[in-house]
Amino acid sequence: MKQARQVIDLSGPPVNSSRTELLSVRLFLFRALYPLCPYRSPAMRLRLLLLLPLVALASAAETAPTLRAGAARADITPETSVLNWVSGKPYGTVLDPLFVQALVLEQEGTKAVILRYDLTGISESLREEVRKAVGAALALPGENVMLNASHSHSAPWSPIYADSLRGRERDNWWAIRFMPAQNNHPPFKRWMDRLIAASVEAAKQALASARPATVNLGRVAVGEYLYNRRPRAPAWGLAGGKAPPAIPASHPDWNAEILQGGASFGPMDRTLAIVSFRGADNKTIASLYHVALHAVSIYPSNPAISADWPGAASRAIASVLGGEALFLQGCAGDITPWKRGEAANATLAGGLATKAQLAMRQSAALTTTPLLAGRAIVDLPLTPAGKERTGLDVLETEIQVITCGPLAFVALPGEPLTDVGTAIREKSPFPQTLVLGYSNGDGIHYVGMPGEKARGGYEMGVAGAGTDAAGGLIVDTALRVLRSLHDKVPKK
Ligand SMILES: [Zn+2]
Repeated sequence: MKQARQVIDLSGPPVNSSRTELLSVRLFLFRALYPLCPYRSPAMRLRLLLLLPLVALASAAETAPTLRAGAARADITPETSVLNWVSGKPYGTVLDPLFVQALVLEQEGTKAVILRYDLTGISESLREEVRKAVGAALALPGENVMLNASHSHSAPWSPIYADSLRGRERDNWWAIRFMPAQNNHPPFKRWMDRLIAASVEAAKQALASARPATVNLGRVAVGEYLYNRRPRAPAWGLAGGKAPPAIPASHPDWNAEILQGGASFGPMDRTLAIVSFRGADNKTIASLYHVALHAVSIYPSNPAISADWPGAASRAIASVLGGEALFLQGCAGDITPWKRGEAANATLAGGLATKAQLAMRQSAALTTTPLLAGRAIVDLPLTPAGKERTGLDVLETEIQVITCGPLAFVALPGEPLTDVGTAIREKSPFPQTLVLGYSNGDGIHYVGMPGEKARGGYEMGVAGAGTDAAGGLIVDTALRVLRSLHDKVPKK
């Protein structure tokens, strides 16, 4: 396995654990209060013992470093004369608006920002421009800024602001074919500028509104809304040697729950994870929710601008939980909604909101220290077609991690398949690891674990620019960053 070339630690100094202090506070209070207790009955003793941890926790809360959290949004809907990247024609109408949303976390001088966008993808250009602007506006290292796209196919790809960030950046990849061509189109140019300004605006507002926060995490199964679009075909044993012709997803008889031709279901993460940041008044500051699911409910049936299901789901979740609801896209390279179209979009959004609410009712409170950020750069090997397209031998890619207590956000480039996220989560030293795809640019588009190329299909052909080894290198690098950050977490 190829080694990551460098690990750049961007975290602040590790903080001291408050556990020792908590224990001594508890013992001190018990020794001080117990002799004063007039009725030293077993019942009273029990009451005192039950009460003391609360007193001790309150004392510890005063001494533990405070996590501050703030969230905000800004509109990034382009003018409707901007060209739809699928058809090359103007969008014409807006079904629902697009946003950038920011979550700012701050603890003992360390700041981290997660910016999530209603865009098809994040370009390396956008990452560079946003990190420069947000880094300067919030006085934090640009590298502590994480960018994630929802992968809504009814929103533009993020623009390409400058040449030479990545080989032939203005390459002929079909997905960006209308983007550089629009750079001199005034409505598109205005949108390019707006995207940076809106990112700064959201991040500044989030920081300005930041206040002491607690963190709760809930999980719930949402498997009925998803399916793996890469079912695993049988290698042998079909009489006649050939599977019957498959019914396409557009056919009225098609059903995501029925597999055709003796295939097996591909792997799927059925989890919706929701992380709730709440103020001292117990009101929601922000709910980050993470699902791995392509945002293709509106596309291709409606050509309008739309945030797709993450827009509708965020509105529904915010209406039941309050505060900002921010969607983080997971490793959705092989996962698609079970049904598509506007009616299915509404059902999905409502269903996710109900489930998010259920998950929060049974959520666990997490510790919130320390807040750390780190990243590593890895060279991903390219296929001959990938080399031809980019003019590069290998693609230099960043793997970024932000952690808060036991919670880790891992940002991967491109469109990782389910197995990539699972491999990282299972070996992560952080018990609450959320793996994001579609982050920070420099992706090789679809990427699976070694062996996936042999299964063929669209994702592993023209739409995947990396070799079969690339997914393994991404996993190894992510684990290296996670372990280096975990080394900084004070142990018992
Ligand atoms: Zn995709």
